Amino acid sequence: MALTDCCSQPGLRPYLDAKTEMLNRLDPVVDTNIIPLEQALNTILADAVTSPIDVPSFANSAMDGYALRAEDVQDGVGLQLVGTSLAGHPFGGKVKAGECVRIMTGAALPLGADTVVMQENCHSEHNVVTPRGPVTAGQHVRHPAEDLAQGERVFEAGARVNARMLSVLSSLGLEQLSVYRPLRVALLSTGDELRAPGELLAPGDIYDSNRIGVQAMLGRLGMEVLDYGIIPDDPALIRQAFLKAAIEADAIITSGGVSVGDADYTKQVLEEVGHIGFWKLAIKPGKPFAFGHVGDCAFFGLPGNPVSAAVTFHLLVRPALARLAGERLAPTLTLQARALMPFKKAPGRMDFQRAFARVLPDGGLGVVSAGSQSSAVFSAMAEANCLLHLEQDRGNVAEGETVTLELIDGLYW
Ligand code: AMP
Ligand code: MG
Repeated sequence: MALTDCCSQPGLRPYLDAKTEMLNRLDPVVDTNIIPLEQALNTILADAVTSPIDVPSFANSAMDGYALRAEDVQDGVGLQLVGTSLAGHPFGGKVKAGECVRIMTGAALPLGADTVVMQENCHSEHNVVTPRGPVTAGQHVRHPAEDLAQGERVFEAGARVNARMLSVLSSLGLEQLSVYRPLRVALLSTGDELRAPGELLAPGDIYDSNRIGVQAMLGRLGMEVLDYGIIPDDPALIRQAFLKAAIEADAIITSGGVSVGDADYTKQVLEEVGHIGFWKLAIKPGKPFAFGHVGDCAFFGLPGNPVSAAVTFHLLVRPALARLAGERLAPTLTLQARALMPFKKAPGRMDFQRAFARVLPDGGLGVVSAGSQSSAVFSAMAEANCLLHLEQDRGNVAEGETVTLELIDGLYW
């Protein structure tokens, strides 16, 4: 068999082309559910949210202190204390000339008052309060609607609900949300050599490591996983699984069997029972990633090598699932960093090397390799805190050159 250099191999799809084509071929699931706010974490908003109220809805104090009229403040002149306004217990009267009201943070500003002076800046004796130091009219007052105004657009449809958003939604008094139903994703690993952890390994066997990782990522994304387990390299069984997924899932994710080896049946079966959109990308790792459909079910064929599987999930499957789920993904935030060592790179494919970024003494960002860049060595991937995005046409990176990277800590993986 002739050895072809993978990097100079013609016909590989550039990453962004493939991604755009894939996204264009996917239609979002449009079913919606009305759910209580308590169950909304990690769901996708089906409708934009507008505020039903002003937040805050009344003028209130930003400090513990005294509410007064700014025009009454004069050096050394005391004000008569006429009452108290606590959070949840407003002062019922009105502040008149020469008067003030004791007020706590979050308590309603009494009628007549326009300014709050911190208690630390007041002298208080026998119900007479004397402000000290300069006072600016209107200080320490939170105004109605200064956070959000009634009718204002708060979140767009397609936003993934996080903990911060839940607090905002709750501050609007919303108890229910309209969200897209979670995606149902069928997941399987192919390979005669694969065993589940706990099973005995016969000579030549390895443990299946892709399925649990992908399952965890799908779980973090709030998706429903249909675990089809390990399927042997048998076209009939693979076919059966694909047809089952076409009935019960929105998407199917497989790993393995998409290369050009003798037992690589995934792509062949996809061509038989479905439609192949593309296969083989100008990326490293992850060249043999396959995309297509079985009926209405989107198909994503991850390469078997664990690093390739995880990286292609992130680069291609994650945006595709977002599109299917009705989620609007923010563009990937990339950073520029200084290579603190040389990186080996051949022109021809975009290379997503696993690396460590760290802040340098001069405040800049530096980056070193996370170790072996073999697509079979997952430990370096697990330890990395970033992925380098090395451009398709770029060659070796010398120490000191600038590289683009994406931080991966704290994401869904
Ligand atoms: P394949 O894409 O099926 O040719 O597999 C490429 C490499 O990845 C081979 O070394 C497989 O043994 C390995 N591999 C395939 N699937 C998995 C899996 N689920 N977990 C760990 N390694 C795998
Ligand atoms: Mg295989």
